[in-house]
Order: sequence, then C-alpha cells, then structure tokens
Amino acid sequence: MSQTTAQAGRINVRGLTITLGEQAQAFQAVQDLDCQIEPGEFVCILGPSGCGKSTLLGALAGHLHSHTGQLEVDGQTVSGPSPQRGMVFQHHTLLPWRSVRDNVAFGLKMHGQSKAERNAAAERMLALVGLQDFAGRWPDQLSGGMQQRVEIARVLINHPRLLLMDEPFGALDALTRLKMQELLLDIWTRIRTTVVFVTHDIDEALFLADRILIMSPRPGRFIEDLRLDFARPRHTSLVTSAQFSRLKRHCLELLSHEEGQPLPRLNPLGLPLDNPFENSQPRFAL
Ligand code: ADP
Ligand code: MG
Repeated sequence: MSQTTAQAGRINVRGLTITLGEQAQAFQAVQDLDCQIEPGEFVCILGPSGCGKSTLLGALAGHLHSHTGQLEVDGQTVSGPSPQRGMVFQHHTLLPWRSVRDNVAFGLKMHGQSKAERNAAAERMLALVGLQDFAGRWPDQLSGGMQQRVEIARVLINHPRLLLMDEPFGALDALTRLKMQELLLDIWTRIRTTVVFVTHDIDEALFLADRILIMSPRPGRFIEDLRLDFARPRHTSLVTSAQFSRLKRHCLELLSHEEGQPLPRLNPLGLPLDNPFENSQPRFAL
C-alpha cells in the first residue's frame, strides 16, 4: 500500500523510570526500562494489570509524566504528542456527530488539504480496513469491531511512524477479536509501520508479535525479550501448535513466578486452563 508507508519508527528507551502521583503518594510505575525496537517491528508488551504498560505506551505517545532516562523515536527525544505516533485505545475516540468519513478525515484538517483531498484520503484508509461501504454512516451505527477499524483508519491517515495500541481489542467478543487480530496483521503487512501493542492476553501477544517484551508487576520492569519466529502470514491454527503451547506455558510460568502464584492449572493436553492474571476471557475454550 503506497499511501501509508512508514519510513522509520525506531524506538530507543534507556534507563527509563516513570514516577506517578505526588509527594507522599509518589511511586515508580515503571523502573529502569531498556529496549531498542527496530523500524517495522511488531512488538507486544505483555504484563499483568497495573504493571505500567499504559504508562509506558503513553510516554511513547508523548503524554509524559515525571521521568528519568532516555526516550527517543528516530533519534529525537519524545517531548510531546505527535500525529507521527498514533495511539489506539480500548475504546474509540470517534466524534458521534461526524460521519465515519469525516472522523477519519478530521486529522488532515490542520494540513491545509482541500475537502476533496481529505475525503479521498479517508476513503483510501477506510478501504484499507475493509469499511469502504460505510463512509457515510455515523459511528454509533457500527459494531464495536467496526468502530475500532475506523479508529485505526483515523490514526493511519497521518502516516504514523509508530502505531501504539493499548489493549485495542480488549472490549470485543472473542470471535471479533480474533478477526481484528488477523485484520491488523494484514494491514501491518501492507504498511510496515512499527507497532507497539499492549496486552495482558498471552495468546494475543503470541499470535501477533515478532517480539514480546514481558513486564513484571509494578513497578514494571522488562523481565524477558522473547523473539518469535512463527511463519507469517499467521493463521488461527497456530494457537493449537505444540510450539505455541510451549511458549504459552513459558510466559505463564514467567508471569506466575513474578506474581508469586502457583503454576497454572493445565488440561489433559498440557495447555493452560486459564490466565491467572486477569479476568479476561481465554481466546478458546479448552
Ligand atoms: P497497566 O496499563 O499495566 O494496567 P498503568 O500504566 O495504567 O498499568 O498503571 C500503572 C500503575 O499506576 C497502576 O497501579 C495504576 O493504578 C497507577 N496509575 C496510573 N495512572 C496514574 C496516575 N495518573 N496517578 C497515579 N497513579 C496512576
Ligand atoms: Mg493499561
């Protein structure tokens, strides 16, 4: 896809510690983080609730709290928000009184493009997320999954170097979530922007990522940098493979150990029965 080619998106984090809260209530949300993410990588940040995932992602987006250490994108210190670092949250931020097309085109208004140019760009983005026939609808006429697709289009219209995603499919039902994961991988294959995707769902991280950065409970530290070499394109059959199960167990053991919890219960096939860290629904009933 030519319209959303990201030229870079290298992240360099060194000794990053972020402090939240004031005075006596101040605490370290994340501690001494180091990582280098290469342009075009798909990285998941996996960790239990409250470990500082959103705080870290917010910092990458430029929503900065008191911090020490280095936070750079393409060699530039992050000092505030930028359309070059687009964020997708669990709940969409679409304006209900604007059409889908206008919501997607909205970000281009500041760039001095004509309405016709903005609309044409919005329609290309909607085609990218498979919603070309819904440009004239209102956001509340769409399903939750479709709203998140519009949200992704709204962010991608700015050709971001980084796509930052904070549990973007966390509010969707299991089947829609699975379809959204496949759609996201398909889009990413075409645009190859760097993606940093936060999740507490081990299956989701294993299915999507090139690399998983696993975090400890608060204050969040990186406890593992797990590289995945599952072939792409990925299919849902991946989650039943022996290698997937092995890595899932590895992630569970790592996180259980950090949480001080007993090892997860396994079914007769040796697969974990549940995710002990969250009240999230397992992707597949085992
Ligand atoms: P995660 O996304 O991994 O669930 P967060 O980054 O949202 O974790 O939060 C890390 C910790 O900081 C949590 O314990 C949360 O309650 C707390 N927290 C988040 N934002 C603030 C804030 N603005 N002020 C004080 N505490 C906060
Ligand atoms: Mg969060």
